[in-house]
Amino acid sequence: MLSPSARFSALALLAIVAPATIVAVLGYVSIRQWEASSELLYREQARDMAAMAAEKVEMTLRRSEDAFLDRIQAVLRSDAPPERAVDDVLAGAPLIRRLYLIGATGELVYPRAWKDGDQAVFGPLLTETAVRRLARDGKREVIANNQVCLALLTRRSGEPVVAAFVRDPDTLRREILETTLGTLESSTIIAVLDHEGRTVYSRAPIGDAQRLLSVGFRDGLPDWRLAVYQTAAGSPRQAVRRQVMLFTAALGVLVAVIVAGIVMTWRLMRRETEMARLKSDFVANVSHDLKTPLSVIRMFGETLEMGRVTDEGRRQEYYRVITREGERLSRLIDNVLDFSRIEGGRQTYDMTPTPVEPLIRSTLEAFAYPLAQQGFKVEVSVAPDLPDVTMDADAVGQALANLIDNAIKYSADERSLTVDARVADGRLVVAVSDRGLGIAPEEQAKIFEKFYRVGRSDTQGRRGSGVGLALVRHVAEAHGGDVAVESKPGAGSRFALRLPLSGA
Ligand code: ADP
Repeated sequence: MLSPSARFSALALLAIVAPATIVAVLGYVSIRQWEASSELLYREQARDMAAMAAEKVEMTLRRSEDAFLDRIQAVLRSDAPPERAVDDVLAGAPLIRRLYLIGATGELVYPRAWKDGDQAVFGPLLTETAVRRLARDGKREVIANNQVCLALLTRRSGEPVVAAFVRDPDTLRREILETTLGTLESSTIIAVLDHEGRTVYSRAPIGDAQRLLSVGFRDGLPDWRLAVYQTAAGSPRQAVRRQVMLFTAALGVLVAVIVAGIVMTWRLMRRETEMARLKSDFVANVSHDLKTPLSVIRMFGETLEMGRVTDEGRRQEYYRVITREGERLSRLIDNVLDFSRIEGGRQTYDMTPTPVEPLIRSTLEAFAYPLAQQGFKVEVSVAPDLPDVTMDADAVGQALANLIDNAIKYSADERSLTVDARVADGRLVVAVSDRGLGIAPEEQAKIFEKFYRVGRSDTQGRRGSGVGLALVRHVAEAHGGDVAVESKPGAGSRFALRLPLSGA
């Protein structure tokens, strides 16, 4: 059969720890799912954003190139001599680095001559078929790794003219890429890579950021790509990790609080169980304590009654035993009654200035017989001219009697009792010392608790209820003082009752 506290622990484990574990597991699983889906969502958003940005770059580029081509077209349609007018248009279009206009038969319309070996680059591109294809499709073309753009224009006469131009990379970066991509709101880094994967433009230094994805541009920049990079701090994984840490910490605190609660309740229950045990021991101990002097009194009383004791000396001895056992009974009953009054908060103290020495002597007097019978060496040392101390003389006398009773009870071979009274640090100190069994250090605080008795075979053989020292402490504290113990197992104990001189 399990003890109540063990049953409680098992129940607590089942009722609290199990759900906490389930919550932890569910939380972990849902965070993992969330991590995966947020990663996916983040990627999708990044892809949408990248496609939109690429579109925007192309639109801006096309708009700016269209405006330029419109102006060239206007020149070709006008009467103006193309040479100067085209020069003017070019001067106002920094995006166009170089322009050639070629007629349908391959003749150079603008400028007069090829520059710096451009013919080698442009010539092969401007074959008749290419021009015809352009005329048929009626659109612009970007060829040779974004290097050369072709567009079909018409002269005033209606003849086709091919405009072949090269973009200026710096202007492209500054006026197209920077203006369109630089203003995008995003926690990622956006970069444009050329046909060899080199970074043409990036919104921020890429450093060790990870490439998330890249999308291609369309007709305007056919060989280039727009790439999205993710910094470690901005990644959704990092955010999830922070959440996981937060969740784990919160769960940890929760579990710690639950465990602390269980431990506290368990301790409380153990204390209650211990208290219940101590109480039942107390009842048994008190009954036993009452029984022993009663049977001695009865036995001696009956013997005397039967008139069998003829020797006067023996008779006197028997009377003394009866008186002594009667006194012990009274003391015991007083202890229990006082204790119950204290527990019920009904104990009152009658404080009057009391001379100390007579109180000590009369208390010791009550123990004269057992002390003498057991061969105790008694020493009383009371400092001369002790002042009267305000106290409840009965209560303090009883506390002192309990200390003396214990000194006698817990003595071993060396029977010695010292009572010592003096003023120290402005307080009256009455100390009762013995050279008896002594008390282990770990027990010294517990012996003042109610019902507590040191669970040792050598003390268990001695009678006692476990309330004596609890009463001493209560009396001391009610007087504004305290009780202290110094003890060494095997060497003896010294209990000091310390009371303020002026009373509480
Ligand atoms: P009890 O009725 O058991 O004597 P007390 O409250 O007076 O109850 O004392 C509590 C316990 O303290 C005792 O059971 C005993 O183990 C220990 N104790 C008290 N006085 C002494 C002493 N002078 N020497 C050794 N042990 C003592």
